[in-house]
Amino acid sequence: MIIKNGKVITPDEVLDGFDLRIEEGLIKEIGRSLTGDQTVDADGAYIVPGFVDIHTHGGCGADFMDATKDAFDKALGFHLGEGTTTVVATSCTAPKDSIVRFLGFAKEYMRRSRVVAGVHLEGPYLSVRNKGAQKEEYLAVPATVDYSYMLDYADVIKTVTISPELPGAAEMTTALLRTGITVSGGHDDGIYPEFMPTIEAGMSHLTHLYCAMSELRFKDGIRNVGLREYALTDDRLTVELIADNRHIPPHLARLVLRAKGADKVAVVSDSLRCAGCPKDGAVYKLGADENAQLVKIGDGVAVTADGERFAGSITSVRQMVKNLIDAGIGVTDAVKTGTITPAKIIGEDKTVGSIEIGKRANIAVLDTDWNLAGVYLDGTRMK
Ligand SMILES: [Zn+2]
Repeated sequence: MIIKNGKVITPDEVLDGFDLRIEEGLIKEIGRSLTGDQTVDADGAYIVPGFVDIHTHGGCGADFMDATKDAFDKALGFHLGEGTTTVVATSCTAPKDSIVRFLGFAKEYMRRSRVVAGVHLEGPYLSVRNKGAQKEEYLAVPATVDYSYMLDYADVIKTVTISPELPGAAEMTTALLRTGITVSGGHDDGIYPEFMPTIEAGMSHLTHLYCAMSELRFKDGIRNVGLREYALTDDRLTVELIADNRHIPPHLARLVLRAKGADKVAVVSDSLRCAGCPKDGAVYKLGADENAQLVKIGDGVAVTADGERFAGSITSVRQMVKNLIDAGIGVTDAVKTGTITPAKIIGEDKTVGSIEIGKRANIAVLDTDWNLAGVYLDGTRMK
């Protein structure tokens, strides 16, 4: 198949008036005036890599923690419908049994799905102060619990979010890194230098920068940076950004992109089960437990049922990339934050995340207003 006449966005440039040849689910050729049996005219639309979302809880009424085929299918339906073709299914802070059940099901589902690349465990090793929408009774401290179940599922887990100043966080980081899991800091309550031992141990990523994260604070008569300020100048750290213009307003997105560059910033949906649902006042569970945090759709964002704080987003990576472009970020850089940068963070950049010969033909076609015109998964049209 040939997709003709698009603006092909590579990590470095926009190739205007170019075609793609797709064979056996792979990108085989990028050029002008390609010919073949089956052609689709992109009619000048943008041709971008399928988006990569490394932090999402669900969508279309389903949460990955439901741990059923129906729930995974529905949540992936939300993402595919928005041009996202690689997803890291994310847990919320919950009893260990629920997390283990989720891990077991994800492992099973991944045998059949090429969209779910792995799992992100968001907690339960998080601070009380910055727990955000996570349930306090399920929080745990690394030094005092048995976390060997995570090591048992190292083939499924891509990332674990921990609060780096907690007792035992640096030791946990060392243990997780040894199995190939990326350690991400977030939902923390530390200040410099409390979180440094965990960074020195190899924590390399930060979960939703600026959201539920430590900040500049007075202690013992001096001012210390929190993780959100520290992150901006340590090149060892990549960061997530919920660029929905609610969690992160456009000027803050510009600041982060200027400090870190598009190679270190991944936009993430952090989408909840209510993403893709109508705004009708309905209340939804975050996660699957009886006792789960309740959330609802607020003004363009998910909020806790009492309306007091943000709980996650209802915005897809496609829209977040558009938001960055509208904020003045260049098109290739904005696209990077939703494609190749997150693919690198989870170690999948050899097969997805950019339009390059030999990579999987995961492609989103977007009109000049950034509306989705088509989605291809391994060369098969999904929308
Ligand atoms: Zn989350």
